[in-house]
Amino acid sequence: MRTPLVAANWKMNGSREFAEHFFADLDLEGVTSDVVVCPPFPYLPLVAQVAKDKGSIWVGGQNMSQEPVGAFTGEVSASMLLDWNARYVIVGHSERRSLYAETNELVAKKFVAAQLAGLIPILCVGETLEEREEGRTLEVVTAQIAAISDLIDTNAWKDAVVAYEPIWAIGTGKTATPEEAQSVHQFIRAQLGNIGAEVQILYGGSVKSANAGALFAQADIDGALVGGASLDAKEFAAICHAAI
Ligand code: PEP
Repeated sequence: MRTPLVAANWKMNGSREFAEHFFADLDLEGVTSDVVVCPPFPYLPLVAQVAKDKGSIWVGGQNMSQEPVGAFTGEVSASMLLDWNARYVIVGHSERRSLYAETNELVAKKFVAAQLAGLIPILCVGETLEEREEGRTLEVVTAQIAAISDLIDTNAWKDAVVAYEPIWAIGTGKTATPEEAQSVHQFIRAQLGNIGAEVQILYGGSVKSANAGALFAQADIDGALVGGASLDAKEFAAICHAAI
């Protein structure tokens, strides 16, 4: 059985005051899914404290360096995330791929470095609108997964999460239909080999409380990576409640 997981990606949003109010308003009473909050790095200590006090959330990083230590100005290592009790780290988010030129190969190195350090990578994969219209969705996702599979033992997928995030659906208000998302999730699971049945595969792209239930009802959708809607404590809690 795969436990559902709902992950909040705050991106570069919020403030100390916002974070304090967010957790004061966040009511996860009765939620049975795993919940992870990935704040901007400066707010990791605050989220770590809430995780310790409330016990109902996990801490996650939004990105990390593939390097363990050294002269890499502006970067954050896996061990630094672990210092704040992070359990998860997002790797290969489409904004990192498109705005910071992260390639499949670099993302694969980050994935391996995260696992080596004891973090669970949340690997983001997904196609652009152009790639979808050209009928290349499965080809793109296959290459993104293969870059990792080339570096790891198949069993290592068990200690990872995959998030299918069609880029045309991120922050646009457009969502893949539950059936469209399900068919890509099923395909991704098959790409992960024998261990695929055990891997949590999340959907991401304009998930909100109004569409979460229909997405989570799909056989291969195990939860969501949530951007915009994770900035509203009530909305985010409603999404977590829908993940059963
Ligand atoms: C994301 O950034 O991973 C994401 C899915 O964003 P949004 O929910 O805003 O589309």
